[in-house]
Amino acid sequence: MIFLLATHNLKKREELARILEPLGIGVQTAEQAGVELTDVEETGTTFEENAVLKAVGGCLESGMPCVADDSGLEVDALGGAPGVYSARYAGEHGNDAKNIDKLLEALRDVPQGERTARFVCTACCAFPDGSRIITRGVCTGSIAFERAGTGGFGYDPVFVPDGADGRSMASLDDAQKDAISHRRRALEQLAQKLREKGIGQS
Ligand code: IMP
Repeated sequence: MIFLLATHNLKKREELARILEPLGIGVQTAEQAGVELTDVEETGTTFEENAVLKAVGGCLESGMPCVADDSGLEVDALGGAPGVYSARYAGEHGNDAKNIDKLLEALRDVPQGERTARFVCTACCAFPDGSRIITRGVCTGSIAFERAGTGGFGYDPVFVPDGADGRSMASLDDAQKDAISHRRRALEQLAQKLREKGIGQS
């Protein structure tokens, strides 16, 4: 069974594919599957609602089982913001540089010990028969005072995961990020639930 990846975010798509394929879950992008996906408006107020919107939308449009994730950064000192608004925190969807500038400014006077945060990922797999699988993964850490590293995407240059010797997520290589990431944790559970349905490697 091949799953359609319902995301327009290239970096996210790469991560989803490189995590899912070794878990025995075959995936295709919309281009590879020859389908045109409408940009789903993320109107949900939770990661789960948005992940379902994207996966169910992709499934209905393509007729294929479809995997999508909704993810973001929750910062304790900001009451959980930017949360579901992570991609458009500074106003413009997907402008990582502006989002980071706004985050660093908002935390300018917050001391080291109070900069705790977490990446959250909710993954949804939607099937043409209407059934769904939903899982959630979390990666805890803190927000640095400045950017470091060139890997990853989004807030990776300023997110320092717990247990990474103070290095930012963007300073880790792909395998190191995948070993601890919120996305990996959500997708591993998804793969486990798919295996229970007899799909993927056992
Ligand atoms: P969405 O899931 O497409 O709504 O966007 C999630 C947003 O959260 C991204 O645009 C990033 O700003 C942020 N984000 C999600 N996952 C990651 C990650 O692994 N690293 C850095 N930023 C992330």
